[in-house]
Amino acid sequence: MLNPLLAKSVQTIQNIGKVRAQQLNKLGIKTIGDLVTYYPRDYEDRTREKKVLELTDRDECAVILRVLSDVSLTRPRRNLRIYKTVAGDETGLVTLTWFNQDYIRDKIAKDKTYVFFGRVKRSGNYIEMTNPVYEEVNSERKKTTGIQPVYPLTAGITQAYMRMIQRNALDTVIGKLTEILPDELRKQYSLAEINYSLENIHFPASFEEKERARKRLVFEELLMLQLGLMQLKHNQVTVSGIKMDDKPLMEQFINRLPFKLTNAQLKVYNEIKEDMTGEKQMNRLIQGDVGSGKTIVAVLAILLTVLNGYQAAFMVPTEILAEQHYQSIVPLLKDYDIKVALLTGSVSKKDKDRIKEEIRNNGYQVIIGTHALLEEDVDFAGLGLVVTDEQHRFGVKQRAVLASKSNPHILVMTATPIPRTLSLILYGDLDISIIDELPPERKPVKTYAVDESMRERVYNFIKKTVQEGRQAYVICPLVEESDEIEAEAAASLAERLRERELKGLSVGLVHGKMKWKEKEQVMNDFSAGRIQVLVSTTVVEVGVNVPNACIMVVENAERFGLAQLHQLRGRVGRGKHQSYCILFCQSKSDIARKRMEIMTKYNDGFKISEKDMELRGPGDIFGVRQHGLPEFKIANLYEDMDILKEVQKAAEDIVKNQKLSEREDYKRLKEHLLLMFQDKLSEVALN
Ligand code: ADP
Ligand code: MG
Repeated sequence: MLNPLLAKSVQTIQNIGKVRAQQLNKLGIKTIGDLVTYYPRDYEDRTREKKVLELTDRDECAVILRVLSDVSLTRPRRNLRIYKTVAGDETGLVTLTWFNQDYIRDKIAKDKTYVFFGRVKRSGNYIEMTNPVYEEVNSERKKTTGIQPVYPLTAGITQAYMRMIQRNALDTVIGKLTEILPDELRKQYSLAEINYSLENIHFPASFEEKERARKRLVFEELLMLQLGLMQLKHNQVTVSGIKMDDKPLMEQFINRLPFKLTNAQLKVYNEIKEDMTGEKQMNRLIQGDVGSGKTIVAVLAILLTVLNGYQAAFMVPTEILAEQHYQSIVPLLKDYDIKVALLTGSVSKKDKDRIKEEIRNNGYQVIIGTHALLEEDVDFAGLGLVVTDEQHRFGVKQRAVLASKSNPHILVMTATPIPRTLSLILYGDLDISIIDELPPERKPVKTYAVDESMRERVYNFIKKTVQEGRQAYVICPLVEESDEIEAEAAASLAERLRERELKGLSVGLVHGKMKWKEKEQVMNDFSAGRIQVLVSTTVVEVGVNVPNACIMVVENAERFGLAQLHQLRGRVGRGKHQSYCILFCQSKSDIARKRMEIMTKYNDGFKISEKDMELRGPGDIFGVRQHGLPEFKIANLYEDMDILKEVQKAAEDIVKNQKLSEREDYKRLKEHLLLMFQDKLSEVALN
């Protein structure tokens, strides 16, 4: 441990006994280090002092007041004692109220002057403060001045107590902590020193100082993760993978496909092939917009694996998708004597056991399934490749579980385009391939944002299109009717469409609460064209591929984020027919209007993610939340994008110039990194 002091139990801190220590444990605080890195979530600014005249409703500030009456006591009911007094300055009067604070009468005396800090309630000229903190004006002020930290807490621990033990803990460590960031780095990026930073993140003298402290701590936290990921990736060079051979059959397979691969697909397949026929383990992410044809690229990697005598697992986030991939992959591989298994959560125990037995004996070469594949203890005869589709549904953790199973090649696929800065920290341990081209003859989906007045016309349009042989989706956000949320319920909507607006058409329904068998039946019927209009919740959001469907209607579109809308729209525009996306938007809010505008204007996922960022600032960047972000103690990827950029520059420089292994002044940083990534990084591997 670099700072042994931080590893000591919190019980060694003043005012923390056994019971308190247990309560702190619940907040994840065991050591002094845990405590001092339990950062405030906010601050109260007690430096602001006002005159009574200036007080406004909901103000939180300090006022210097002379107490004008004795403190009175009323007991409106048992267990409630209200203490009141009136105090004022030369500009006005304030009523002060405390609940159940029986010692108030000993502390507050008539004709004396105090500083009171608290939240103001004002209506007209009546001004009140409830439970204000106070100090005599001439005392050495502690509580009513400065900036006070506000911590996230659990039951049993008060702000006052947390502030006190933080103070105590800081008093024992500040001045004794060794710096892990080298001077060079701190100078280059204007990073404050560690002792200063810890003190000022908790008890800053000013907001400028808090910001300086925060920047350093955020920088350190992000740098550790970024460097760790880069080193992991660097390490993979040394993890030997399963070396495969290229096979002539591959070319035959590609030539026999019903379509010609795009250049982008070929390029990405070549990158995959190079990885798999090389010495090292593949860890590759494929990014490609919805409809860019990622599945077939995965199939190529799978085929290459099987032709080399290994098994391949294909993992997807939903059962619908697993089934769909199964349906489309089996015929592709049928000429090659390859057995494909479908293993999902709803397969019966008996069948599962049989399938697993077969997998163990290499009776199946390709296994398609949901996450269940991870949880089930599946023993492979020889696993050579793991593909995970729609990676944004898999967290970093799940990826780690996979990697630890054995060392198969890893291929992950996502449709969520994210800027490079983010992919570096989310997927810093992966190589990235991009399919930046759509198959030819794809007509961009025409998108319209409409309101209720268009409903009839929309239904007429659906009828007309269905009569021409096409199909349509209608998406609702919810499954069951709920009072709180006025969104259309899928079940009742389907009913209504069937009986009224779309009478005569075959309307199907699919939602998350249906039994798997029912879902499967509905999806099969839709694929085969037996269902013409599919009313669905967002279960079809990812991956579903029915090229004959060319209308996507989204109810309550304002409830969806841009990432989701783009995914939903991606369900159409997959065939030769002109496709349409119709967004019913009930909201007139500015943000809803702008989102609809972006959707109607742009078809390209990267562009939309860019616009999304502009719109909200780096807010919930295009579904980043789904990426399984690591939990940070202080950093916030949404707000700290600028710091992240600096961190990446620094990390790249450190790795490129091998500073961790060669520079004495980076030694502590390196030790720290090894500690953090204990089992994953070894001394030897750090460059
Ligand atoms: P996604 O990248 O969203 O997963 P899919 O792999 O589901 O996209 O492919 C979408 C559709 O495009 C499928 O019907 C697939 O057969 C078809 N497709 C894929 N590649 C090509 C291509 N090169 N030319 C024509 N159609 C293609
Ligand atoms: Mg897909």
